[in-house]
Amino acid sequence: MKKQTLPVISKQVRTFLVNAARAAADNAYCPYSHYPVGAAVLTLDGQVYTGCNVENVSYGLGACAERTALFKAVSAGCRDFAALAVAGGDKKPAAPCGACRQVLAEFCVPGLPVVVARLTGGKVTVTTLGELLPMGFASLS
Ligand SMILES: [Zn+2]
Repeated sequence: MKKQTLPVISKQVRTFLVNAARAAADNAYCPYSHYPVGAAVLTLDGQVYTGCNVENVSYGLGACAERTALFKAVSAGCRDFAALAVAGGDKKPAAPCGACRQVLAEFCVPGLPVVVARLTGGKVTVTTLGELLPMGFASLS
């Protein structure tokens, strides 16, 4: 994982990111799971990239919302992130899957705030990447 100190994310920014993630979920392509998810990553220089889950008839080829958003940002040249929001689920909020946690660890510090919310309403939970992935894989070299 990278080492850097992150700015504190205000409640207003968290709300903005959750709303962006919820809007991104509207574009989810999920004809198999019927489980739309949206994500929004905030870069350290203030840009927001969103993503949704994109499924495939060959199930393993689909991509999660979090990785879609992160890869959009990285492919646009962004490498430094300040926060992530994920929105999914009706009764329980969707937290990032294990694969996404490991991919996030490639670019984000353990202290990265991760905001988890349902698709609509409900409590918003704020955790960190380090809490979600306490012993992620790291290269031995
Ligand atoms: Zn995932």
